[in-house]
Amino acid sequence: MADALQFNPEARMLIDGELVEAASGRSYDNINPATEEVLGQTADGDSEDAERAVAAARRAFDDGQWAGDRQLRKRCLEQLRDAMEADKEALRWQTVAEAGSPLQLTWAAQGDTVIEDARWPTARIDDFEWERDLGVHDFMGMKSRRVVVREPVGVVAAITPWNYPLQVNLAKVLPALATGNTVVLKPAPDTPWNATWLGRLAAEHTDMPPGVFNVVTASDPAEIGEFLTADPRVDLVSFTGSTAVGRHIMARSADTVKKVFLELGGKSAHIVLDDADLEATMPFAAFSFVHAGQGCAMTMRWLIPRDRYQQAVELAQAATESLAWGDPSDPSNLMGPLINARQRERVLGYIEKGKAEGARLVTGGGRGPHEKGYYVEPTLFADVDNSMTIAREEIFGPVLTLLPFDDDDDAVRIANDSDYGLSGGVSSASLERAESVARRLRTGTVGINGGMWYAPDSPFGGYRQSGLGREMGLEGFSEYLETKTLGFPA
Ligand code: NAD
Repeated sequence: MADALQFNPEARMLIDGELVEAASGRSYDNINPATEEVLGQTADGDSEDAERAVAAARRAFDDGQWAGDRQLRKRCLEQLRDAMEADKEALRWQTVAEAGSPLQLTWAAQGDTVIEDARWPTARIDDFEWERDLGVHDFMGMKSRRVVVREPVGVVAAITPWNYPLQVNLAKVLPALATGNTVVLKPAPDTPWNATWLGRLAAEHTDMPPGVFNVVTASDPAEIGEFLTADPRVDLVSFTGSTAVGRHIMARSADTVKKVFLELGGKSAHIVLDDADLEATMPFAAFSFVHAGQGCAMTMRWLIPRDRYQQAVELAQAATESLAWGDPSDPSNLMGPLINARQRERVLGYIEKGKAEGARLVTGGGRGPHEKGYYVEPTLFADVDNSMTIAREEIFGPVLTLLPFDDDDDAVRIANDSDYGLSGGVSSASLERAESVARRLRTGTVGINGGMWYAPDSPFGGYRQSGLGREMGLEGFSEYLETKTLGFPA
């Protein structure tokens, strides 16, 4: 793992244009989840630092320069993207070390693809419909011309998880800044360096005025988030994380009637219709283990026609047992460790619960051969009923469940019988049949016969308790905008 040492982590936060230590002087350990070794230190901020960041963001928004100058915004975001591109090799190894991400993913959703996609929101600054002329309307004999104007919401608190830190951080920060908001980014305690890396690049390589973009880090998962969600100077909370914390943030933001935008958990289903080619389809079930299943949109319930169930279980078992996993810096591995010991224990607890509730453990279920690192084996459960805990709750680990169904209606019923509604998949020999089932799923995205919905212009988000609002695409861009209607005498 020698290459992993080739990055230069940023321990400081970005507040009001300055790279700073925590006001308290405290710092905390950043741990490599694959080795359990301390990688280095990060500023351990608290409410005092959050207070300064919010004050700076508020001032930078209220002075109007950033909100009012689209060309300044475009230039700064292009500078930021260029700086990311120039430093992406360092980021690659940092992400492997800090997030336990498989190196392979850093060429895609943990790195290069995301940096390439960063062009998209910035390009919208030029072609977004910032104003719309509604023409003349006669109201009680008074003729008026109306113009609809889109304006930034104000100060955005962006609170993010650890699983795909660059993707989630940028999916919030870029559209928020492109639309003229100012931002306080609070990353997860386990992956602070991804955010402080962005802070350093913004401070050293862009013309962003002080206060426009701030990054505050902390070992305490909740303190700064609690501050941001209650502070009246914050106008919008953009949150990605668990449904439990999202629910809490929504309630807490109610006192100041903040806008809340929530990207939450999932328990997505992949439906294999009875005409599907099982030998071609089932190997893809193992992709649910990518990054140890730590993806909100992974399909962790595979629904299989009852009369083909046994064959599907055998094929899924073969795919699970042949998956390359282990050291995330090995480019052949698709799966590394979980992020921390707490998550590992949580996932192992779900595995025990699955067995206790009568599901059949087909393969995996333990920690595997590694002496160090927060690993859990790729784990496959068969004979799962949709009422079992392992089918209902988000495990956020490498635990795949196979559920039998009777016919298409039954499959749709089971898929939709969930508190969540984030993603899904359908496989069939007939594209039309797969599409018609996909359209019946109550979920924000669906892949049909291996089709991929993910792209910078694809809106992404959840139905039901998977969230509120959409990230990315024009819908995601618009989340950061207010709407004002002007009336002129005509
Ligand atoms: P989490 O909810 O524990 O934490 C997310 C963020 O919220 C972290 O920055 C954390 O420090 C912060 N936080 C914790 N308590 C808080 C509080 N009281 N007030 C304000 N902020 C608080 O989630 P996690 O464990 O970091 O990430 C895993 C979860 O994220 C999973 O549920 C996963 O499905 C979800 N996720 C969703 C998406 C999506 O787009 N829908 C994407 C990635 C991850």
